[in-house]
Amino acid sequence: MNKTEHDTVAAQDRNSVLHPFTNLKDFASGKLGDPTIIETGKGIRITDSTGREYIDGFAGLYCMNIGYGRDEVAEAISRQAHRLAYYHSYAAHTTDELASLSDRLVKMAPGKMSKVFYGTSGSDANETQAKLVWYYNNLRGLPKKKKIITRDRGYHGCSVMSGSLTGMNFYHDHMDLPISGILRTGVPHQYWDAQPGETELQFSARRARELEELILREDPDTIGGFIAEPVLGTGGITPPPAGYWEAIQPILQKYDILLIADEVITAFGRTGAMFGCEKYGITPDLITVAKGLTSAYMPLSAAIVGEKVYKVMEEGADRVGAFSHGYTYSGHPIAVAAANAVLDIVEREDIPGNANRVGAYLQSSLHEVFDNLPIVGEVRGVGLMAAIEFVADPATKKRFDPALKVGARISKAARDLNLIARAMPHGEILGFAPPLTTTEKEVDQIVDIARQAVNKVMDELAKEGALR
Ligand code: PLP
Repeated sequence: MNKTEHDTVAAQDRNSVLHPFTNLKDFASGKLGDPTIIETGKGIRITDSTGREYIDGFAGLYCMNIGYGRDEVAEAISRQAHRLAYYHSYAAHTTDELASLSDRLVKMAPGKMSKVFYGTSGSDANETQAKLVWYYNNLRGLPKKKKIITRDRGYHGCSVMSGSLTGMNFYHDHMDLPISGILRTGVPHQYWDAQPGETELQFSARRARELEELILREDPDTIGGFIAEPVLGTGGITPPPAGYWEAIQPILQKYDILLIADEVITAFGRTGAMFGCEKYGITPDLITVAKGLTSAYMPLSAAIVGEKVYKVMEEGADRVGAFSHGYTYSGHPIAVAAANAVLDIVEREDIPGNANRVGAYLQSSLHEVFDNLPIVGEVRGVGLMAAIEFVADPATKKRFDPALKVGARISKAARDLNLIARAMPHGEILGFAPPLTTTEKEVDQIVDIARQAVNKVMDELAKEGALR
């Protein structure tokens, strides 16, 4: 793209695109500079309109799992677009790709899964899950059993229902969220929330006790579901403490509460297992998948419905008639063809196995390089998702003044060195979630650049007198 073309695109964009998660005034005024125009991608790298190449250390938004530029997927998309670009899946219509993808997902998913319902985003799939919880309990003659429990710092999307399920207030502010009927319980983050001397197992047991207390306080007959990510993602890339899932699940079973596993980030290999549920011994009733399902080559999400829930739905059909939920693009032929092509690669190349091996290398490299730095509180992660959390004083866990914007500055410094690593929205955290095809050599490059970025900001903070 030459300079004139670049300027035209930048001007069109500034004048007409409403960008998510962007300060609108700073963008409109030019304070944020021109939009970054991304033109091409190959492997773990993307290139912008000026020819500058970045390592995408966050796989877009933890979604470009098989890497950019896979011809095989592009060809599957093209083939399907030529053959049949669209037909709907209402009233028992299907395509061969839709049927085979669904058969495949039911067989590969953990727990006893029965059917798959499709949407186009993680948010709408979680919206579907909430409706399924309500529908299931209505059909069972339990119309009061509707509230859904979520966790502080959980992320489940941005629509009205999924945004309400998201457990971070800045996603709600000025948007009239959350809606009623959503309850919140504590985040399982040992570093910040365990009491002095509390072991991981004790902390997990306390979180389970608190969950039970919440259920009893609210009345178990009013609670239908519990939604959680196997590993907390946007809330700070935080794996659960030991014993957490073992302690939580019996409470849900005791009070007849459905477990929705939000695997939008974790499914299809991110943690080093095919599903996060497998990694942590979770037996879900409902599973939400998106991102890795198509590795973002097409927008596609799914609510995978367990046998227990589906049976009630099928039995209820005599009384209530058709299942009255669906989108124009549910099971879109091109998107499901993309998913089949992507899952072929995931299986053939053992993408979860690579995430497991290279992920272990990423985790140990990050620990080795960052653990003892004077601004690092915690290095954490699992598989190919990891975070470094920065604090003003690791000895006392004193937080940085948010006005210093430490996380954002380190992310910017990394970007200036051509590495994209995300400043996580909750706290001073640098997040990594590179494509699952990343090699050990590429991990070395990522960690090396991150180290340079942290050093740079550490020097600046020292000069500003902001260090201990
Ligand atoms: N659930 C989880 C765990 C996510 O991480 C996300 C997005 O990051 C969503 C749901 C929402 O997905 P989408 O942005 O496709 O609506």
